[in-house]
Amino acid sequence: MNDLIHRLAEIVGPTHVLTQDGDTAPYLTDWRGRYHGRCVAVVAPASTAEVAALVRLCAARHIAIVPQGGNTSTCGAATPDTSGLQLVLSLARMQGIRDIDCANNSITVEAGATLASVQTAAREASRLFPLSLASEGSCQIGGNLSTNAGGLAVLRYGTMRELCLGLEVVLADGRVLHALSGLRKDSSGLDVKQLFIGAEGQLGIITAATLKLFPLPDASATAWIGVDSADTAIHWLGALRQAFGDRLTSFEILSEPCQRLLDKHQAGRLPFIAPWALLIELSDAGDSAELGERLTMWLAEQQMVDGVIAQSEAERLKLWQLREDMSETQKKEGASIKHDIGVPSSAIAAFIAACGDALQAAFPGCRIMVFGHAGDGNLHYNVSHTRTDNAALFDDEAAVNAIVYDQVAHYGGTLAAEHGVGQLKGAWLARYKDPVALSIMRSMKQALDPQGLMNPGKWLSQI
Ligand SMILES: Cc1cc2nc3c(=O)[nH]c(=O)nc-3n(C[C@H](O)[C@H](O)[C@H](O)COP(=O)(O)OP(=O)(O)OC[C@H]3O[C@@H](n4cnc5c(N)ncnc54)[C@H](O)[C@@H]3O)c2cc1C
Repeated sequence: MNDLIHRLAEIVGPTHVLTQDGDTAPYLTDWRGRYHGRCVAVVAPASTAEVAALVRLCAARHIAIVPQGGNTSTCGAATPDTSGLQLVLSLARMQGIRDIDCANNSITVEAGATLASVQTAAREASRLFPLSLASEGSCQIGGNLSTNAGGLAVLRYGTMRELCLGLEVVLADGRVLHALSGLRKDSSGLDVKQLFIGAEGQLGIITAATLKLFPLPDASATAWIGVDSADTAIHWLGALRQAFGDRLTSFEILSEPCQRLLDKHQAGRLPFIAPWALLIELSDAGDSAELGERLTMWLAEQQMVDGVIAQSEAERLKLWQLREDMSETQKKEGASIKHDIGVPSSAIAAFIAACGDALQAAFPGCRIMVFGHAGDGNLHYNVSHTRTDNAALFDDEAAVNAIVYDQVAHYGGTLAAEHGVGQLKGAWLARYKDPVALSIMRSMKQALDPQGLMNPGKWLSQI
């Protein structure tokens, strides 16, 4: 073991090999505190060459590697197992911005750059990098790509898969895939970078990426609107798209129980409570006052009953803060069985009705909190109080999941639209994903990582 630590230190420098419990602890527990692991060491390389050298060393000694970004995925995806034999490879020192090509609207960054730092670099070049998540100060581009992250503006700009033009990846045998292209159109064979997006570090280690940039919108109009049903909410989504096209950037919904919880813990901040609340945002080039005026006129034509339109940047931020506080506010009420599901937005209302009925039939009185990015069909669907004291909540987890995921499958949805699959949802993926797709995924794993050393124990070893 000492020899291994010595070799690791030769590659990255002794101060970047952590072995003491106090130093490694933050890397060994996932964000929710649900998974706890051990490791032989945490190493933090500073370059692609160092990553490749580490991977070659591990391949020769048959040591498994767990790549870790900001450790904000909430399904144990970046947590090592409890053997104490796996190596955690932190990308935190690889934060460089390699290039900004304003004429091509693209940016090339190292995988350990935080999402917030990439947004800032883009803004400083008068461009927008549109991925936006509540965890953006901590999560990293490599983690965002590996989980195909989405967020608040997917409706307009797409997920990481759509935002990625090129990748640099260290493969399980130490070879480097050089695919850092800035091309938007390339018909020369298979687009192999796609394999690593959403792979959660099980096929290779992403070391850099070329990402799309967009013109920086200087106008926005933001409104908090009350509607009487999920059906009406989805009708509004279609109508807003029709009226404002691509300017519709975000379309979030919160159910009444979510609003009541926000009101309980943050009294006075909520404009009103409605059966469903919508948080919508338009963005464009030009003048915010003019865009706000257009939205106000349009809302008046729709005979909106309850609604407020932000009149200043401070008011806009207050509305967004309500949405962003939702997860933390729910935490104050204790644990819940969480799902980050996705269904086609046209099926949202039917899914919510059918799933709610099925859960209430099995667990009368259970509390269901629904909120999220309805514009792209991605909902947080959190269930609690399946028992009177809620203490044994997780005894019901498998039964609750089966009900929710059956309904998701029925409505053509996905059981992982946001937080990845990790070690939490592998068995469920095996149950619901198309068997041919699963078999192709297993073949890819075998082809790219025959020794099974890339983040083992996660979903690719459970399907
Ligand atoms: C408060 C909060 C809000 C969130 N909101 C959203 C949201 O709106 N939308 C959304 O999509 N997600 C959201 N998430 C989930 C999470 O932030 C994302 O999944 C994020 O993309 C994870 O990035 P990370 O750097 O933290 O990755 P980690 O958690 O460190 O890792 C995630 C997976 O990627 C792998 N990995 C990490 N870096 C690399 C690399 N360089 N190469 C190969 N594999 C790698 C890991 O091994 C692991 O399997 C939220 C999380 C929190 C805590």
